[in-house]
Amino acid sequence: MGTRFWLFPQTPTDENSLPAEQVELSPPAGSLEPGPADHSMYVIFPVGKDLEYGMHKDPQGRDFVYLPPWDGEIYEQASPDQDGHFLHYQDVNDGRFHAAHIYASIRFTLDVWESYFGRTINWHFRNHYDRAEINILPDFDNAIIGYGFVEVGTYVDKKDGSLSPFSLNFDVLAHEVGHGIVYAEVGMPDPKRESAEYLGFQESCADIVSMVAALHFESIVQEVLESTSGNLYMHNHLNRFAETSSSKQIRLACNDLKLSDFSAGWSDEHILAQPLTGAIFDILVDIFHEELVRVGAISSSLEHISDQLEGSDSYHSELQDEFDEAYSSNPKLFREALIFARDSLAKLMIETWARLEADHLEYLDVLDAMLKADNAVFDNAYRKIIDVNFRWREIGVAKVGPKLPKKQDDPESHTHSNRTLVLEDEPVASVSYQQRYLLARHI
Ligand SMILES: [Zn+2]
Repeated sequence: MGTRFWLFPQTPTDENSLPAEQVELSPPAGSLEPGPADHSMYVIFPVGKDLEYGMHKDPQGRDFVYLPPWDGEIYEQASPDQDGHFLHYQDVNDGRFHAAHIYASIRFTLDVWESYFGRTINWHFRNHYDRAEINILPDFDNAIIGYGFVEVGTYVDKKDGSLSPFSLNFDVLAHEVGHGIVYAEVGMPDPKRESAEYLGFQESCADIVSMVAALHFESIVQEVLESTSGNLYMHNHLNRFAETSSSKQIRLACNDLKLSDFSAGWSDEHILAQPLTGAIFDILVDIFHEELVRVGAISSSLEHISDQLEGSDSYHSELQDEFDEAYSSNPKLFREALIFARDSLAKLMIETWARLEADHLEYLDVLDAMLKADNAVFDNAYRKIIDVNFRWREIGVAKVGPKLPKKQDDPESHTHSNRTLVLEDEPVASVSYQQRYLLARHI
């Protein structure tokens, strides 16, 4: 029997949020230590940690690096009950609940993806750290995974000043795990060979990791289908990422951006990621539609119209009535088709990652790798779907321009140069601070 936690599928600061769900995670009940802590991570709430990990400048302006472990005091940790579970924490004002919730979000996401891999996912920093240190850092306006750590702060809405702790935001935490999975499975590029498209690819994959993980909550599957009748291009929980409330999502999976929109240059990797995320989301929807046709839940003409109108203004109104009717007569088939599409996409993603190199990565390489993955795993079942959606985004046709200065209206960044700080391969204790680390990326 696994260990039980309460987990919010959506951040509770959303006025329409779903209630917390009881989830059972893979570590056997009784195996977790206070923190919570397991074999791969430990959660702590440091007292007085006013600097996040990563590269910093000292008062003389010299670079210095700050990495785990935290060796100062910590607040009281979340401890298992006598049966080994953490269900006794459910007060959103209790720091121990936040610790338990962060742990549960990360472990849930890893459980989902490890089930697709059929093996353990080892952290990309495994050569230097046995376990990730997961810190609660309320004054930090971000959430990032870095070398040996995940630090979890608070979202501050610049317009109204409202606060939303990332510790209760499953999407954001799962997204950070997604970055970690890509670093572990595809790799981290040599700083001199890091392409703009690698950064966009990272953001895209992190969102897809989060989206697939979210689709393992029964309540999310239910909500997505009920609110759209299976017309997934309607705005819904699935295609809004990192939401802090229902109207404040950080980016959208259903978007119309093409690669030529970046020919003149780009300034934010989350936006540069959008054509790739859009292509992958459209692939998910197409697999879903094909499956719906196969099981007889929608007609092939509805699927055809849906493909034709994709991205056009008339899309929603023309199709919604038909989807409503089809869904109401066969909700179970829609649910099964969505699960089928989710699992197919996840398998396609892990097989795609296995065929990619981090250095000089381009979106066109992702297309090539995905076609090969489809050939190897699905016998080319999705070749046309993959081709059409990458082509529509002009991937392989248009070229990405140079990096431009950040614009005022760019979305809140979830990246940080500290994420890509890496340790060189020497043992930690034997080299000096300056030698030990290199900064992979300056923003
Ligand atoms: Zn990110």
